[in-house]
Formats: sequence, structure tokens, C-alpha cells
Amino acid sequence: MSRSSKKHELVLQTLTASSGPMSANEIWERLRSINDRQNIGIATVYRSLSRGVEEGQLISVELESGSIRYEMANLDHHHHFLCSDCSRAFDVEGCVRNLEKLLPSGFEMTKHEILLYGRCAECRVA
Ligand SMILES: [Zn+2]
Ligand SMILES: [Zn+2]
Repeated sequence: MSRSSKKHELVLQTLTASSGPMSANEIWERLRSINDRQNIGIATVYRSLSRGVEEGQLISVELESGSIRYEMANLDHHHHFLCSDCSRAFDVEGCVRNLEKLLPSGFEMTKHEILLYGRCAECRVA
């Protein structure tokens, strides 16, 4: 495996192990904290992320305007929780039934997004 493929794998592994979508900066900091000999530059992380999106391994999610996070493309249908203290995003399993009931008469829903806001467990005890 080439060095750039190895770094790409590390980025994908980090996202696979994550409890929610991560920004390029969060991924970069995580990689540096687990292995500072790996010496990955932020530019490498960005390159790896756009390659992942191009190849269909990753999708980008914009939970806050102007702030792009990434997650694996193969996840089941889910939603997100955004912590207002630490700004981390978390996956929320499952969905809400009967969303169609909210629709005005005659409307059709083709997709939906649900974003929960609050404080994560770590921030609540801090
Ligand atoms: Zn938090
Ligand atoms: Zn849903």
C-alpha cells in the first residue's frame, strides 16, 4: 500500500470509529493524538476527504452553515445531535414515525432532515 493510501485508510478508519460526523480539523487532531509519528498534514486530510467523497466512500454533511463535516456513506438512515457546548456532532439512531402528518394537504415529502440540539453527556457533567 502506498503512503498516501495508508493515510487515506487512517482517515476512513477514524470516521468509521467516530460516534458522529467529523470536520477535517477534528479528524486531523484525532489522528495526531493517536499517533504523532504519522505526521499527517491538514492538507492531506482535506485531499483524503475529497477523494473519499469522489469515490463514494464518504458524504459531506453541513449541519451548521459554513461548517462541513464528513461521515461514512454506508450508514443506515439516521439523524444528528449537535452539542452547543463542544460543537461535536453525534449520530442519533432511528427516526420519527408519521412525519407525513405534518405536510400541508396535497404535498408530497421526498426526503427529510432532523437535527437535535443540546448538550452531550460529557458536557453535561463538566
Ligand atoms: Zn458536548
Ligand atoms: Zn429520518
